[in-house]
Amino acid sequence: MMNGLRELYQEVIMDHKRHPRNFRVIPDADRTVAGHNPLCGDELTLYLKLDGLCIADVSFEGSGCAISVASASMLTERIKGMRLEDANQLFTQVHALLTEELSEAEIATLGKLAVLAGVRQFPNRVKCASLSWHTLKAAIDAPARASVSTE
Ligand code: ZN
Repeated sequence: MMNGLRELYQEVIMDHKRHPRNFRVIPDADRTVAGHNPLCGDELTLYLKLDGLCIADVSFEGSGCAISVASASMLTERIKGMRLEDANQLFTQVHALLTEELSEAEIATLGKLAVLAGVRQFPNRVKCASLSWHTLKAAIDAPARASVSTE
């Protein structure tokens, strides 16, 4: 990985860790899903407020390492206002970003989330980065309440 991207990765991760976006509870959420990454001890709960098939509001709370918190923070920023099916598609793209070798063009379609590709140089942290995305996937597929473990 180029040094510039590595620096950007660290900068973005630390910014979101220090100032997580949408870090709060949505008391009347339509979907509430708890996610757990036993490998690292990351725990988070994702809240979705729906308006039909659109994600009207999204938030999370929990505790974990910098990467898990930053990834969740970036997730909430990105999917707010999205349709559920588009968020589902985004899950597939981000999962590929974290686990596969994508072309630069494919990575570029992810915009700001492309920085998450930086986690691939730390294989034991991939589950930290993917936790919130698996939790989102469960929230999209799921009944009103669910929980997911990445193990
Ligand atoms: Zn972690």
